[in-house]
Amino acid sequence: MIQVRQDMHVHSTFSDGRDTIAENAAEAECLGLIELTCVDHVRAGTDWVPDYVREVRRVNVTTAVELRCAVEAKLLDVAGNLDLPHGLQNVDAIYAADHQVPLIDGPHTPSEVKAMISEGSLSAEEVLEAIVTATANSLRVGCPVVIAHLFSLLPKLGLSEEQVPLMLIEELAASTADSGSQIEVSERWRCPSTRTLGPFLKRGVQLLLSTDSHRSDTIGRYDYCQRVVEALESPMAPQRSSPTP
Ligand SMILES: [Zn+2]
Ligand SMILES: [Zn+2]
Repeated sequence: MIQVRQDMHVHSTFSDGRDTIAENAAEAECLGLIELTCVDHVRAGTDWVPDYVREVRRVNVTTAVELRCAVEAKLLDVAGNLDLPHGLQNVDAIYAADHQVPLIDGPHTPSEVKAMISEGSLSAEEVLEAIVTATANSLRVGCPVVIAHLFSLLPKLGLSEEQVPLMLIEELAASTADSGSQIEVSERWRCPSTRTLGPFLKRGVQLLLSTDSHRSDTIGRYDYCQRVVEALESPMAPQRSSPTP
């Protein structure tokens, strides 16, 4: 079962969010959410993580909502390296995000990769495989990973999730299950699709609903996620085996 009274990806003033952690938690409490994950963007040079962790823990004791503390980092390359500060400690999860295209020689902007595809120096298949492989390799970082808005980049590259071979998705779902990692369903990016999520659910990977909110007034409001949950939990869903009588 997928928990819907949660928002597992909300930004605060520690990175590019408008509202403070306390304001975000207050909004979540008002909405009757059970869980909220504070997620802020980090890079290799980020130095505020200890202050951030302390603030999430401080607010957690003042609210009925269970707060988790996570950071979001860009996938850098096919090896699965992430743009993380050295010595990261005490966070509950790392959100591995495809903000740029992680290729063998490092991250590339979507417009660069789109041009490479159209001039024929890189194929769509190679790009899709690079994104999936980078994501799978990032799961070995040694801290629980949440796969953030998987495939959100594809529309910017002129590609769609339907083009990702099911075999690649099955392999990623298996690695995610084996490593005890999780995957989010993103309201903001309206991805991944039910086709992508089916193999994860089938293997028992926990799906997390998230808005990727950058302001408190969008926390916990779902339309896309609601429809995905309904489709995945429908007895007609082809990805689920039918319940035994
Ligand atoms: Zn992101
Ligand atoms: Zn985010």
